[in-house]
This record gives sequence, C-alpha cells and structure tokens, in this order.
Amino acid sequence: KAQPGWVAVEEYLSNAVVRPNAALKHAVQSALDAGMPPIEVAPNAGKLLKMLVQLSGARRVLEVGTLAGFSAIWMAQGLPDDGRLVTCEYLPKHAEIARANVDMAGIGHKVDIRIGPALETLAALAEDPTRDGPFDFVFIDADKENDSNYLDWAIRLGRPGTVIVMDNVIWEGAILDPSMDEVNAPGIVGALEMMGKDPRLDATAIQTVGSKGWDGFAIARVV
Ligand code: SAM
Repeated sequence: KAQPGWVAVEEYLSNAVVRPNAALKHAVQSALDAGMPPIEVAPNAGKLLKMLVQLSGARRVLEVGTLAGFSAIWMAQGLPDDGRLVTCEYLPKHAEIARANVDMAGIGHKVDIRIGPALETLAALAEDPTRDGPFDFVFIDADKENDSNYLDWAIRLGRPGTVIVMDNVIWEGAILDPSMDEVNAPGIVGALEMMGKDPRLDATAIQTVGSKGWDGFAIARVV
C-alpha cells in the first residue's frame, strides 16, 4: 500500500538526514533473516523517538512491543549512560534476537527485555521495587486491541509530565471504517477517544505516509 514516491522520499530522508548507524541497519536485517514481520518503525520515526527521549530529558523509558529491538536501540541511544529502558515482548524468539541486537549496538546495559504478555509484565512492574521510580517516556507498539489498556498502564506507571507515544493510530484509515479490521481498529479508536477525553492526558495525533503505508502516531503528555 506504500506508494513508490513515499518510499523513495523516505529513503532519501533516511540517508540524508536520519542516518541510522550500522547497528540499527543490522537490527532490521536480522529480523528479515529470521523471518520476522517487517513491522518495526521506519528510520525517521525511530529517530523521532530518540529525539523525543532526549528533548524530554527522560532517564527511564518503557516500551510495549520489542520485535527485534529496532525502536529500543533508537530510544536507548537517546538515554544517558545510566538511563534504563524496559521493553515488553511475549515471543521468546523476538526477545532473543532483540537481546543480541541491543548488545551489538553497545546499549545493552541500558535495556531490560521482559518476556511475557505485556499486560502481565506491566502489572508486575507496578509492584517491582527495582523499577526505581516512574517512567518518563513510554512507547506503545504491540497488539492494538490492548492500546487503551497500555495507555492506562502508561499513566499509572508514569508521572505528570510523562510523554507517551502510541504508534499505528491511523491503520490505513481503518479507524474510520472498523470493518477494515475488526480486531485492531476498535482498539486504536478506543485509545484515541481516551486520549481526547481522559482528564489525565493532553494529546495530539499525526498521520503519516511512507514505507509503512498510510499510518500515524499519537503523542500524549500526562497532566
Ligand atoms: N517497537 C518495535 C520496533 O519498532 O522495532 C516493533 C514492535 S512490533 C510492531 C510488535 C511486537 O509486539 C511484536 O514483536 C509482537 O510479538 C509483540 N507483542 C504483540 N502482542 C503482545 C503482547 N500482548 N505482549 C507482549 N508483546 C506483544
């Protein structure tokens, strides 16, 4: 569904401006080699995550949905050396490849990959004394059905000022036609409605085109 012009422009921007390092390129290739779905964020979106981590001064990052660690590497590159990123993944094979990729990228000491259904991991994190304070930045990018549950956990595990980024909020326009995807679209719409109405959040949403087709992301701030 990605139009050739969108892909060509994204490649140009990636090479000219974004400039992912070798470890990031390797992470994408390792996922392809392992037969994993190519559903990581585009490089320009990964760089945006890194910059938002830096601009918000985050020291503790939470990610829901690891895949091969591509977005985790970007975000960890934006953290100070003593920063920490906890990322949730339920497939052991994905977690194993992500572990190798974050280590190869030289940021493995900042990254804690928790294997299991994210809702269980998040509930356990709420009780975990090693969590060491609230998360400053949360990236939600897993099963869209649970987007509003993840949003609620992000608020509960965060603090006023925590930045929450949610990926895939347009889903090729399925948010306006849930019959296009009866599983994921209602989950996304529920989270968008929550972002607009929940008094604990202030938010915006941006639609994008590129190698991942027509999609977008939302950014919320815990008030
Ligand atoms: N954030 C990654 C990146 O950009 O590099 C991409 C994440 S991919 C879109 C979603 C990941 O979430 C997959 O690896 C999938 O196995 C995992 N996942 C899906 N449902 C999950 C759940 N309920 N709990 C934990 N992980 C889940």
